Amino acid sequence: MNREHGAHRALVVDDDEFMLKILARTLESLGYQAIATCTSGAEALSRLKRETEPPHILLCDLSMPEMDGVEFLRKLAEIGYGGAIVLISGLDKRILSTAETLARGHRLHILGHLEKPVTPNQLKTMLARWQPRDEPRAPASAESCTVDEIRAGLVQGQFVPWFQPKVEIVTGWVAGAEVLARWPHPARGMIAPDCFIPAAEQHGLIGQLTETILTQSLRQAQAWREQGIDIKVAINVSMDELVQLDFPEQVLELAQAAGVKPFNIILEVTESRLSNNALIPLDILTRLRLKGIGLSIDDFGTGYSTLTQLKNFPFDELKVDQSFVRGAVQDPAARAILESAVNLGKKLSMRVVAEGIETKEQWDLVAALGCDIAQGYFIAKPMPGPDLPAWIKAWKAP
Ligand code: C2E
Ligand code: CA
Ligand code: CA
Repeated sequence: MNREHGAHRALVVDDDEFMLKILARTLESLGYQAIATCTSGAEALSRLKRETEPPHILLCDLSMPEMDGVEFLRKLAEIGYGGAIVLISGLDKRILSTAETLARGHRLHILGHLEKPVTPNQLKTMLARWQPRDEPRAPASAESCTVDEIRAGLVQGQFVPWFQPKVEIVTGWVAGAEVLARWPHPARGMIAPDCFIPAAEQHGLIGQLTETILTQSLRQAQAWREQGIDIKVAINVSMDELVQLDFPEQVLELAQAAGVKPFNIILEVTESRLSNNALIPLDILTRLRLKGIGLSIDDFGTGYSTLTQLKNFPFDELKVDQSFVRGAVQDPAARAILESAVNLGKKLSMRVVAEGIETKEQWDLVAALGCDIAQGYFIAKPMPGPDLPAWIKAWKAP
């Protein structure tokens, strides 16, 4: 018994009273003392609305009459429940993982899902993912970046490239680094790209942002080369940016100015969200390839990155979206998609990259499936350029 959990509140929601008892007993055996139970989503919601101290952990059955689990999750998000949630169901595993995806979409803190019957050990392992230090929190409010702030940041040269290593799985060799834009804002602290990239795209500032990131990254690549580190840099661009026919020439000019060879540059391309005329991007991408620059199809497998793109555009690298990598160890559907994507890439003689590798298990899996390159927190988090040489020196492939 774990006494640490004595002060932690748990709530179990299940229409099956027998199941409720079993889950409550299991929690008790794990050291939880403040355990409440509800037999419907509606009852649980009114309880949560009344309480000043919400439960730290909520176990929730998905299939309940009246309010089902999906509706319950949506309502939990609406009232801003910030504790941890474990989903439980006797239904098909795919429904469980879809519900999990939905809940994450609502920014709920999902620990994971369990199939019925739930064993004490499974529940214990699941709850071990929860850090008791995480106090229930308010739902993450989407930070926003205004267009004026971004414009000012660009004028003042505040945007910088960070770099995340891409390593060859078989040899452990550091093949390159993906450039990820960062904004160390003087007042707001470090701002992540999800905040400023969409806004920059919407307001026509993305071209300027790409140029400053590209320029700085190429200079960094040249500085590494002077220290004996010769690796590729991979820059992110969206199809929507590819509107200027002279884009390849601009890239080449910047590369030349920095002294970087075109074959040391990769562009990681994401599909256009607008279905505009694809001839211009096709023209641009084809000429980039002709000039020796590598092209990677990014987020492969997601809605915006499709088989048609793969057929029509001259990509030489395929980056499987991290959601499939993350899911693959547990979820057979994600694993099947990952496996097919890798095979597809191989058949088309492309370099296959698995991104979002967070664990040794995932590394082993993508290695076994034949991926060429791995990237993710398990290897290294994104870092400022000057930190990379020391990281490479210390890096030992698993
Ligand atoms: P992306 O191209 O898919 O980049 C990978 C994102 O996953 C990065 O987030 C990276 O930090 C994160 N990541 C890498 N390894 C792991 C891991 O093991 N676990 C997890 N959970 N995450 C991991 P970041 O830096 O926040 O960038 C988000 C997105 O913003 C990028 O997604 C890319 O689409 C976009 N972006 C970043 N920099 C630029 C840029 O300069 N230009 C454009 N157009 N887009 C950019
Ligand atoms: Ca990318
Ligand atoms: Ca990606």
